[in-house]
Amino acid sequence: MQHIKHFIDGELVDPASGSYLDNIEPATGAAYSFVADGDTEDVDRAVAAAVRAFPTWSVTPAEERSQILLKLAQLIENRLEDFARAESVDTGKPIAAARTIDIPRAIKNFRFFATAILHFQSESHATDHVALNYTLRRPRGVACLISPWNLPLYLFSWKVAPALAVGNTAIGKPSELAPMTAFMLSELCEEAGIPPGVLNIVHGLGRKVGPALTEHPDINTVSFTGGTATGADIARRAGPTFKKLALELGGKNPNVIFADADLDAALEAAIRSAFSNQGQVCLCGSRIFVEGAAYESFVDRFVAEVRKLRLGDPLAPDTQQGALISREHRDKVLRYIELASDDGGTIRCGGRAPNPVNDRCRDGFFVEPTVVTDLPVDCRVNREEIFGPVVTITPFETEDEVVSYANDTDYGLSASLWTENLSRAHRIADRIACGTIWVNCWMLRDLRVPFGGMKHSGVGREGGEEALRFFTEPKNICVKL
Ligand code: NAP
Repeated sequence: MQHIKHFIDGELVDPASGSYLDNIEPATGAAYSFVADGDTEDVDRAVAAAVRAFPTWSVTPAEERSQILLKLAQLIENRLEDFARAESVDTGKPIAAARTIDIPRAIKNFRFFATAILHFQSESHATDHVALNYTLRRPRGVACLISPWNLPLYLFSWKVAPALAVGNTAIGKPSELAPMTAFMLSELCEEAGIPPGVLNIVHGLGRKVGPALTEHPDINTVSFTGGTATGADIARRAGPTFKKLALELGGKNPNVIFADADLDAALEAAIRSAFSNQGQVCLCGSRIFVEGAAYESFVDRFVAEVRKLRLGDPLAPDTQQGALISREHRDKVLRYIELASDDGGTIRCGGRAPNPVNDRCRDGFFVEPTVVTDLPVDCRVNREEIFGPVVTITPFETEDEVVSYANDTDYGLSASLWTENLSRAHRIADRIACGTIWVNCWMLRDLRVPFGGMKHSGVGREGGEEALRFFTEPKNICVKL
């Protein structure tokens, strides 16, 4: 079986300990490759390489860095099908999704930041006729980039691209549950022209490799996407050495549907938003609120459509629902479904780990897409992130009521709002405490906009200028005239 090695100083290397972990295919439950079991020694080597590479990379002309990242994008695109298949096998997501969403977006991330850097501006301020202030924005140094398993290459590249584009060097740490496409990326770095040490990738368990990175004295920038509890741990460890932090954390996103909305469009988007990637997207709309007048018929139609979702082998071209990432995660999702029943919820469809979807997948980690109604708004199922194919639907009567429902969670990542009433849309968008509000759409992304969460969904913003600013250090120079 293949060994997923670290990528340090331009070389694919074995872990210092010599030890590897099983890499499990979620659809089968079986190990299909081995991933390096990284530790502090590997992190130290990677950081030393990044420190050595920084002086040259940070002064490499932006145009040259841009060309290198564009070439990397092209190399991924040349192997799109291989990457899509690998992402599907590694995560259990339907190959159609990997082919049309994950890998194209990773390519786009590199192209976006490779060209954004050519247009990046810094500020100047004329202080009356007395002085001229201008601000330099220089790369900060060595960044650590920690990404989750749900959208592996998509989110890894979302960090690597801006960090490198502005001239930082970096240590990437993909999730040990889905390391394959980051490994494949490392295999392309030399051909793309990325000098040794500019991008290093250390694999392994978050609890071992993570603290070695976030406490490392030579790393001054940490960009993390993952769970809220892990984000809190990172903040605690990175704080004492004043590292600059961006934390993109969990969500429990409301989807608010008024009776005057285009209900066909709302229904289609609500299903996508609840069950994309088996509900394992931080932006999934896992709490649907429907205005009373439309509630009953919406629930009936929603359940009928959800029953039609094709759950199956992620490698089958027509599969719409694949496997969850791990046995532990599958069990956690099933516990939440039990809790929903215990709290008086009605399971309208789904709710079980299905019988084997085929022979190959008989031990895979599948859960049926599940719809729950009749739950109190403030119960755990409605307030905690499940991160699986489970959605609740709740009726409401007034704007004030639904705004309070939408905000009744510690999270504040995104929300969707469906109405044909323009004033109402603006009014409510302003009152819902989330970093992104979609009106009459879901997941319509423009990579230039600020992306991130409020409350326990995160600190800081990614995307466009925000990312370029995050990965640079502003220095103001005041010249007396
Ligand atoms: P996670 O358990 O927090 O892990 C995220 C990453 O952190 C993984 O690479 C993990 O490594 C690593 N890690 C674990 N413990 C660490 C520590 N103590 N220090 C440093 N790194 C550590 O999250 P996940 O289960 O992979 O991802 C699901 C979560 O991510 C959900 O809550 C979801 O909402 C959130 N998410 C947020 C966004 C967003 O943009 N806001 C996007 C996608 C996902 P191992 O996997 O090897 O343990």
